[in-house]
Amino acid sequence: MKSIRKIGVFTSGGDAPGMNAAIRAVVRTAVYEGLQVTGIYRGYQGMIEADFVEMNRRSVSSIIQKGGTILKSARCPEFRTKEGRQQAYDNILRQGIDALVAIGGDGTFTGADLFSTEFDVPVMCIPGTIDNDLYGSDYTLGYDTANNTVIEAIDKIRDTASSHSRVFFVEVMGRDSGCIALNAGVGGGAESILLPEIDSGIEGLIEELSLARERQKSSMIVIVAEGDKNGGAYNVAKAVKEKFEYFDVKVSILGHLQRGGAPSSFDRVLATRMGYKAVKELLKGNNRSTVGLRGTEIITTPLEEALSNKEFKLDEELLEIANIMNK
Ligand code: ADP
Repeated sequence: MKSIRKIGVFTSGGDAPGMNAAIRAVVRTAVYEGLQVTGIYRGYQGMIEADFVEMNRRSVSSIIQKGGTILKSARCPEFRTKEGRQQAYDNILRQGIDALVAIGGDGTFTGADLFSTEFDVPVMCIPGTIDNDLYGSDYTLGYDTANNTVIEAIDKIRDTASSHSRVFFVEVMGRDSGCIALNAGVGGGAESILLPEIDSGIEGLIEELSLARERQKSSMIVIVAEGDKNGGAYNVAKAVKEKFEYFDVKVSILGHLQRGGAPSSFDRVLATRMGYKAVKELLKGNNRSTVGLRGTEIITTPLEEALSNKEFKLDEELLEIANIMNK
């Protein structure tokens, strides 16, 4: 195996808080190990356009606390073509990059696996997405921060909801994954949680709300994941209003504010541990794998295994807990 002298690091796909902390850890661990580091702007797009920057310890000063990604991110359809990937390979060869650390989600991992296999470039991935829907890690970077953001919003909405006896429908991110909705719903004490994974229909919710009303709850908060099968918070609120005219119904779509903000302490430490591990593993000869948190340990999982386990399951016990807590 060719020895590694220069690592290329990039962020790709949806951004997430903690990505900067991961970049910092990759750069500083690599420099500590005597390696050079090239930052690649805008993920695969920057690879195709040779949008590179040489990085050192100082390039990553004061970024651990920042949301977003200093290397920017992009979606790059061209990378899905053989010609695009060939162009990317020619550029990284010219730049002297002989291994990659990719920070991103499922799509980023898929591209990294393909590229590494086609051109025999060692690659390690770091799971960065607020959705927490990647196999191989109990937590993805940004998930904890996003949960904290949502809980803070729920607390604030609760104040106004209680003052006016309103029913609030709060839509949170999660097109296919109900992780944020379930977790933040439990943490925020929501009266009901609608998840993409469970097609519960509107009747169950209406029953829950009427029971809560009978118990004279002063406010009700329903968390709706954006991928909920009833069509999102507006549709759910409309259906409830039609049934119960007397409910004062309000909708709040949290949207992209869930993607931003300073990473939580948990995400900063996790990102730092993952960045360190990714570089160390590359140097040990590990390849085409992702780092991840399992329990309290940072482990690695082959990309092939991570990508073939797409069926992500919600925590059954937490679902039951949610149902008990809102009774
Ligand atoms: P995320 O990494 O957050 O899941 P995307 O799904 O947009 O975000 O993926 C990020 C990028 O990864 C895409 O824009 C594309 O450049 C690359 N990618 C995704 N899937 C593939 C694929 N099947 N083949 C090659 N590249 C891919």
